[in-house]
Amino acid sequence: LPYALDHEVVRIGVSIGVAMYPSDAGTAEQLLRNADTALYKAKASGRDTWRAYASEDGQRQHDRMALELDFRAAIALGQFTLLYQPICDAVSGSPVAFEALVRWNHPTRGVISPAEFIPIAEQTGLIIPLGRWIIETAFAEAATWAYPLRIAVNLSPTQFRERELIGFIREVLARTGLAPARLDFEVTEGLLFEDVDDVVATMRALSGLGIRMVLDDFGTAHSNLNYLRGFPFEAVKIDRSYMRALNTDRQARALVEAILAVARALGLDVIGEGVETQEQLALLRHLRCRFVQGYLLGYPLPAQQTRDWIWRLAAPHGDDEQAAVRWPAVSA
Ligand code: C2E
Ligand code: CA
Ligand code: CA
Repeated sequence: LPYALDHEVVRIGVSIGVAMYPSDAGTAEQLLRNADTALYKAKASGRDTWRAYASEDGQRQHDRMALELDFRAAIALGQFTLLYQPICDAVSGSPVAFEALVRWNHPTRGVISPAEFIPIAEQTGLIIPLGRWIIETAFAEAATWAYPLRIAVNLSPTQFRERELIGFIREVLARTGLAPARLDFEVTEGLLFEDVDDVVATMRALSGLGIRMVLDDFGTAHSNLNYLRGFPFEAVKIDRSYMRALNTDRQARALVEAILAVARALGLDVIGEGVETQEQLALLRHLRCRFVQGYLLGYPLPAQQTRDWIWRLAAPHGDDEQAAVRWPAVSA
């Protein structure tokens, strides 16, 4: 149970890792190390629980450490790249923004997904230098685009908590010449369980610069509609897990309708993500979801291809001229 200590509410939690002698280890040191690995697993699965050591955990721990070592060198070695995925107007299909998505081109393992290394980067603090590189690269890239479409950048909770975040962002905006009104920061609701006052203050400071805050992956965990009201968000992304269920599952459809209705009432933009089929797109249009993202509209692309695409949009000829006029773009 939570209890009060001076003016703070304190909650004590317990996580337990179990390793057994002699089946898990032959020496005291190894036994402790394996118990620690199991403890790590317990914490990773949400705390206040216990996990037993399994032999494959040792291998996983080893892989993780190897990956972590490589990671430290990877930024310096230029092994990270950004891809850009279009976010489109649901009616015209034209891009209104691109989301920057990071990739790690590992020399021996090939391309590693951010789903694999962002959690490690978060836990080790390496997300700070990587996140700075992502911000610098994405801002500089978007500043070169032939048409001032928006750029969406993902911010992880550790980056968000960093004291110098605001100063750093101002500095990079000034250096690259990117207009803050072209910038979206995407955060997930995990961030909102942290120190609420600090989070709101940082979000306000970013909004104050003219940057738009977007709630990413909405609908995955708690999906509290209060988040849309209590925090200064201007847009919400409906998680792609809903898209899969949209055409078959009446509950999923009802929830998407409810999110759209609340967002509309609060004056928020809505982006449906993970759109892979014409049916999903048609239904989202029918429900008047204004923006869409997904493989149907476009895969994440390398910088040069993105630049070329935007160039073609900005220098329209023939039929494209009409499309150019329709975009809900922002002023530069
Ligand atoms: P996210 O922010 O939800 O990004 C969308 C993910 O969905 C991307 O995966 C994208 O490639 C994928 N996706 C896009 N359209 C479709 C579709 O139609 N169907 C399916 N099945 N998937 C689609 P990706 O690039 O592997 O990124 C995974 C996650 O890693 C991201 O989820 C985000 O949470 C994190 N991430 C990626 N780049 C960054 C970054 O630069 N910084 C931080 N902090 N996190 C990042
Ligand atoms: Ca995102
Ligand atoms: Ca998302």
